[in-house]
Amino acid sequence: MSQAFELDNALGVSEAPRRPPSAFSGRLIALAAFLAYAALMGGAWWAVLRVFPASISLTVLGRTLDTDSVHEQLNNAFLIFMLLPTALWIEVAVVGWAKSSARQLLLDRTPSTKTDLAVFLLGQAHVLDVVGRLLTLGAAMVSGAWLHDWLTRTTGVSLASGTAFLPLPLQIVVFFFVYTFFDYWTHRTDHTRRFWPLHRYHHSAEDFAVLTSVRQHPAAFTAIFVINFPMAALGAPADVMIYVNVVVVCIGFVIHSKITSDWGWVGRWLVQSPHHHRLHHKLDMSTPTGHFAMAPVWDRLFGTWYDVGEKGLPIGVDTPYRHGFLVPRDMLRDYLHFWIGLTGRRNDGPKSDLAFLGTAPLPK
Ligand SMILES: [Zn+2]
Ligand SMILES: [Zn+2]
Repeated sequence: MSQAFELDNALGVSEAPRRPPSAFSGRLIALAAFLAYAALMGGAWWAVLRVFPASISLTVLGRTLDTDSVHEQLNNAFLIFMLLPTALWIEVAVVGWAKSSARQLLLDRTPSTKTDLAVFLLGQAHVLDVVGRLLTLGAAMVSGAWLHDWLTRTTGVSLASGTAFLPLPLQIVVFFFVYTFFDYWTHRTDHTRRFWPLHRYHHSAEDFAVLTSVRQHPAAFTAIFVINFPMAALGAPADVMIYVNVVVVCIGFVIHSKITSDWGWVGRWLVQSPHHHRLHHKLDMSTPTGHFAMAPVWDRLFGTWYDVGEKGLPIGVDTPYRHGFLVPRDMLRDYLHFWIGLTGRRNDGPKSDLAFLGTAPLPK
């Protein structure tokens, strides 16, 4: 019982005992904070759109660059600034403030959440990642679009025409499955002996805290091209690619949250649930990890769907990590392990994961 309460009682000020905020009022406060943030961002967005013209012409080194999509780019930037707060708020709405990542990150940081925060602050955040994706998308799209044109000219069939007649939301759904197909194989590659050291950093989290999604090794950047390039080559329109990326980042936040739901049949077939992603992060790697795909249908199709293990399994890796703000040291070590592994002088990788492209762990 707090001293203030005892004093109030002694003075007869308060009749009813004061309780800590209930789960309900905690959710209400979180909702109010979220709405205030959204209103602030909305105001800033409105002001910025008024300041910036819709098209800009820049002359750099004698070359003139014209862009007519300034406002679309700004819209996307603001959408990105809403992603993380939205994910944090959804988690509060589901698990309550007391158990939320937002509270843990602000008030009660564990060593593991400190690492997540450090990686986030160091700029390896998905928020920046998406900015990076938007920025690099241009490059991936030019080459992808070129490949798409070439395929169309050569074969006489436009792969994009198969989806162009669909309304935008359905195109997003179609290309979400295209994206997750390539993401599945990239992720399975990450779990092989050669690439594991760069992905291990992500698996070093000992608890989920939404931001765990951004705990990625800075050298693990190739997925942007690996995944977006095929989408562009298949003729995904630019806006569809951006929306698919936004959806994927949102799912990334939610599956690394403290929500423990398996989402029923949706989580078993369509979109990976937080429960199934926890199974993927399990510490005990004596049995295969599985659950690589953001769309479980790929795991089922390619034989990596196991769905065994209770909720709340311990997560992490055997390799020691120094948690907290001193992240560069372990990142450097993992990077060295990656190069040494390429020369065949190291044998990393979850020993039980399936052989794939001849990069299965070497026998010891
Ligand atoms: Zn993984
Ligand atoms: Zn993960």
